[in-house]
Amino acid sequence: MTESLRVLFLASEAAPYAKTGGLADVAGSLPNALKKLGVDVRVGLPFYRMAKEGNFQTRKAVSGLEVPIGNARLRGDVLETSTEEGVPVYLFDREDLFDRPNLYGTPEGDYYDNLERFTFFSHAALLFPKKVGFHFDVVHCHDWQTGLIPAYVKTLYRADSYFSSVASVFTIHNIGYQGLFPPDRLHTCGVPVTEFNPDGIEFWDKFSLLKAGLVYADAITTVSPRYSREIQTPEFGMGMDGILRKRSTDLYGILNGADYTSWNPATDRHITDHYSPSNMRGKRKCKAGLIKELGLHQRFVDRPVLGMVSRLAAQKGSDLLVQIVEDIVGLDAGLVILGAGEDKYQALFLELASKYPESVSVTIGFDEGLAHRIMAGIDIFLVPSRYEPCGLTQIYALKYGTIPIVRATGGLDDTIQQFDQNSGEGTGFKFVQYETGAFLDQIKEALKVFEDRPGWIRLVERGMRADFSWEKSAGEYVSLYEEVRKRAITNGESNGKKV
Ligand code: ADP
Repeated sequence: MTESLRVLFLASEAAPYAKTGGLADVAGSLPNALKKLGVDVRVGLPFYRMAKEGNFQTRKAVSGLEVPIGNARLRGDVLETSTEEGVPVYLFDREDLFDRPNLYGTPEGDYYDNLERFTFFSHAALLFPKKVGFHFDVVHCHDWQTGLIPAYVKTLYRADSYFSSVASVFTIHNIGYQGLFPPDRLHTCGVPVTEFNPDGIEFWDKFSLLKAGLVYADAITTVSPRYSREIQTPEFGMGMDGILRKRSTDLYGILNGADYTSWNPATDRHITDHYSPSNMRGKRKCKAGLIKELGLHQRFVDRPVLGMVSRLAAQKGSDLLVQIVEDIVGLDAGLVILGAGEDKYQALFLELASKYPESVSVTIGFDEGLAHRIMAGIDIFLVPSRYEPCGLTQIYALKYGTIPIVRATGGLDDTIQQFDQNSGEGTGFKFVQYETGAFLDQIKEALKVFEDRPGWIRLVERGMRADFSWEKSAGEYVSLYEEVRKRAITNGESNGKKV
């Protein structure tokens, strides 16, 4: 049935080519799941330095593609590679825009020319298939960096027969990043000035590329059912709740899946001792290895070790964790943190690590291998987010027999069930109020269960057997693609009749 569905899947990052967070995990694994369901899916992302350094085998698909930016035309190349599962991946190459140390900016702030960078990518990603004659039914865009694409389809290219029956789907991975720019730069992205109004791309005297995605896409999705409800409220909508309420019939919450080819302790290439629910010896070895690697005291081999792998940002609850590090040390638990982000959190965590070197290890930076070793080598994973669209680390933690303690918000609430010692039901621990007391209470609850070894082992096993693979959610995307394609064809035909 889905044989002929052709999808262009565009994101600003996709694993393993370039990654700063969960978007890359999704863009790196959902297309493979879609292919398995018979979709002809192709992925596009910028050719950053990070992707170059991965030394992927590529071939040049197009040289000197001309891309309009303001009054200029920039030339760029498109390289083609493919995922291990055979999904074609297009890397949009323009050295002065993408060959940089980071994807979006430095700790001091965003790159000054992000509008030019993502205008180039968005525009090139639409012009390239036309140039090579790849017809697609649906363009699936992700987050503000690709928000211009649905706007181009509905405005600039409305009359272009190549795009007239293309439907667009826009996925919100995080509504907090809105791609805001001053109105005098509108000409750079090429969206007609007539669209600069509150029903279009304008957002409080600026324009927002995220809003462009929300206004012009045929369907909007976000990455968990609960977050899809939350973002329609002023508390979580970050100013976009009005437009989302208006579009609520086109808004879907589809839970992210986990890529168990990368995140599975039985096969993980980043860990040396593999394990599974039926043989957990490897986890003990992973824990001993991590304690040695990070220089924690030997006694933690038998004591609970807690950890977090995260962007260090207020969204992720870094401020809550900073405040209770000394309480965790007081409970004689170890703490391992891997993260990068805001200077102030980096400094505060490093200070605590130097004060308690035997109990607290802090690594600042982005390290995929260490992230996996932490997942395998600790007992309890902390995700105290202020808000969380889906969150993937708590899902990975379950698979690694590492018990999550999460704040009951967004996808964290959808994916983790509170453990009930009487019934033995549940997969982790949750707190509702965003406050240190509530967080610490759940840590203490978890430590109580940790001391009760048989209870802990049952909890670990239940988590490891939970299944968050992509199959179900990928099926939901396919149904949605079918639906928007049907609508686009009908609209295209009725537009045709009118002319
Ligand atoms: P978000 O996308 O909001 O950052 P998610 O939980 O959806 O959060 O995804 C985070 C992803 O990024 C996970 O794969 C996690 O392991 C990874 N990650 C986050 N910070 C780091 C880091 N410092 N080093 C390595 N991986 C990291």
